[in-house]
Amino acid sequence: MSQFDFQSYLCTSLVLYIFSYVSYYLLSPGIGNKEKFLQMRRFLPCALVAALPASLAGFNLFSSIFFLPLTTGLLWCFTFPALYYINKHKTTTFFTWHFDFAFGLYIIAWLSSLEILFSGHGFISYFWAILVSITEFFLLLIVLFELFYYIIYQTVISENGLMVLIETHMLEVKEYLTGLPITLVLAASIIVTGMLTYIFYFNLIIMALPLMSKLSNTGLVIMIILLCYLTFYLWRPVPEKGLFARTGLIELYIDVKNYISSASLYKEHHLSHLKELSVSTNMNKLSSPHTIILVIGESASRTLMSAFTTLKVNTTPWLKEHATDEDFFLFSHAYTCWGQTVPSLERALTEFNQYNDKTFNKSFSIIDIAKKAGYTTWWYSNQGYLGSSATPVTLVAQSSDISRWTLQDANVKQYDSALLDYLKKIPTNRNNFIVLHLKGSHYNYQSRYPKSFAKFGNPSKYNVVDNYNNSICYTDYILQEIQQYAAENMNLHSMVYFSDHGDVPNRRRQPDFSGFGGLRIPLFVYLSAEYKKMFPDTARALRNNTDKYFTNDLIYELMCGLLQVKSGNYDSKNSIATEDYKWSRETLRTNLGKTLLTEDTTEDNKV
Ligand SMILES: [Zn+2]
Repeated sequence: MSQFDFQSYLCTSLVLYIFSYVSYYLLSPGIGNKEKFLQMRRFLPCALVAALPASLAGFNLFSSIFFLPLTTGLLWCFTFPALYYINKHKTTTFFTWHFDFAFGLYIIAWLSSLEILFSGHGFISYFWAILVSITEFFLLLIVLFELFYYIIYQTVISENGLMVLIETHMLEVKEYLTGLPITLVLAASIIVTGMLTYIFYFNLIIMALPLMSKLSNTGLVIMIILLCYLTFYLWRPVPEKGLFARTGLIELYIDVKNYISSASLYKEHHLSHLKELSVSTNMNKLSSPHTIILVIGESASRTLMSAFTTLKVNTTPWLKEHATDEDFFLFSHAYTCWGQTVPSLERALTEFNQYNDKTFNKSFSIIDIAKKAGYTTWWYSNQGYLGSSATPVTLVAQSSDISRWTLQDANVKQYDSALLDYLKKIPTNRNNFIVLHLKGSHYNYQSRYPKSFAKFGNPSKYNVVDNYNNSICYTDYILQEIQQYAAENMNLHSMVYFSDHGDVPNRRRQPDFSGFGGLRIPLFVYLSAEYKKMFPDTARALRNNTDKYFTNDLIYELMCGLLQVKSGNYDSKNSIATEDYKWSRETLRTNLGKTLLTEDTTEDNKV
């Protein structure tokens, strides 16, 4: 039985810790202090666990016995984050792949525990050696796939790349492979075969050694507990999601799979029922071609915007200046229906809301309405494309005539100003309905605006409140640019801005209801002089309703009202743009219908 060398154990852990944390730090642009310190703490147990099994058996993790577990783990730590960094750090302002590092470190412990515990048992060890080899081969194959993909396409694998791969049939894969340069296919085949042979040879030799007998009784118990725990923690299947499913590439793969199935559900209903949607409008009374714009904000809190409150810090100078203009209608009591992007926007953009029994998949959207009303529909987004925080919004977006995401353009720096460039390219020879989806004040706030726009605090200093205020101020500038450009160049008749939900910058985000701070949102409408003259009832109703209460799942009806829509799929009593608007503080709800707005007793205290 061998001695547990505490000093060597600590040294190995320290080397792993420093190596992984420093690499993580260098490969994660835009991370704030909070994230830096959080991961600094998280990586420590990962490194201590990674070195433990080898040390318990009296070895050093860097000895040749653990070459494969160590190499597999380290390659998982770095490959995806490094390729992503090389490819995206010039355009993406913030990303972090800490799960890849955590998984890489833990998998070292998991594989080396298996190697030790199942070695030296004769025939049973051969069986386990084969299982361990298959797992290692599978893990290394994923790494190789990422590297070859990068070599072939000069880009890290993306949603689109994976979607093509998942939807491609085996026959096409064969055709595709035969089209690749022969040297590359040959190199790949030699590497894969060589790797497979080496892994089997290595494990059959190593696991024939009596490694387990070197463990003390305590060491044995610790290692069994560790192995059981890690098996659960790393490999728990979706939807609970073990660490494996949270790593960059695997999460992307799961998102793409989910997207494909939800897209088929949404599209199936949509295509078959769209012809039943009947819409009439008298927007043709307005001069044409003209433009209507809907801007969707992100994490903007009404009570932290100077245009809506008596804040000392002027976070929204442009909107504040127009707050009392006749063309602008600022709503002083707007709330989100929920504090997360997808549940909120699924309802805001469609007939589905907190007050009816419709479902997202079976509801028409504001894009359907605008199309039927004769508009060419455009959707430009600075948000994500796939995943639990984006997919349903993407489905609505994709039903537009033209939809584009900044992240699809390799050379676009992903600040919201990128949307202005798209806006300016829209032809003005037809009636346009345009949706612009901002990244707004999404965490990490510091990454949402160029340093030159930092009005509050020290631009290089991390301070959540200053950073948040700067992001709000930058959004104010973006809204100004959109409104002014469209009014001057696109015959803008109406523009609406609302936020999906708010945020409380100096409070940790919580998944459950935790007060109204993050639920109070900005909402304003702009109408051109011509629009107000042609539709005075709408302008009057909006003015009379500015102090009424509102929840953003009724944005669909607000837009229908502004588009002067008549349809069986639009109830004007839900529209704050009409005199019929029936809702009040006493009847409206948030928290997906579970909380009445009357429970917000601190609205005037602003927090
Ligand atoms: Zn959001």
